[in-house]
Amino acid sequence: MSRPVKRSREGSSRGASFRCDRCGKTGTVSSPRGPWHSALLRITCRCGHSFDLLIEQRRLLRRQTRLPGSYRRVSPSVEDGRITIIDVSVGGVGFTCDGRHSLQVGDTLAIEFRRPPGDDSPEQHQVVVRRVDGSEVGVEFIDAVPAIVDERPV
Ligand SMILES: [Zn+2]
Repeated sequence: MSRPVKRSREGSSRGASFRCDRCGKTGTVSSPRGPWHSALLRITCRCGHSFDLLIEQRRLLRRQTRLPGSYRRVSPSVEDGRITIIDVSVGGVGFTCDGRHSLQVGDTLAIEFRRPPGDDSPEQHQVVVRRVDGSEVGVEFIDAVPAIVDERPV
């Protein structure tokens, strides 16, 4: 038997609010890994009712644009460059390339970008290119958790 999954309401960047279906009480939980991460949490209300709560905090930051970052492509040829993140959603990001690029739909990249001020470590992801429009590129996350990108171009 699968449990129903509630989606959190869009709360503040510090937490998400929810409402218990059984007793109607509302509560707030904070995202365990910071405002940039989605999380599935098991909530147990004081009334004893428990349910899973999906927190999708990236949505809150959709308008927080112009985050500096970089990308690295390994195949079909090595390419890297500076990017500016202009759009963030649950499943991916959109960015503009600061320089010339040869990215194509279907390319797999590693991207890294700084989170908004107040957040700590850089965001790192494996992504696949879904859209290329001049210098604007849309990519989809293909990693469930942030990937480590510690290789640097020589
Ligand atoms: Zn309750």
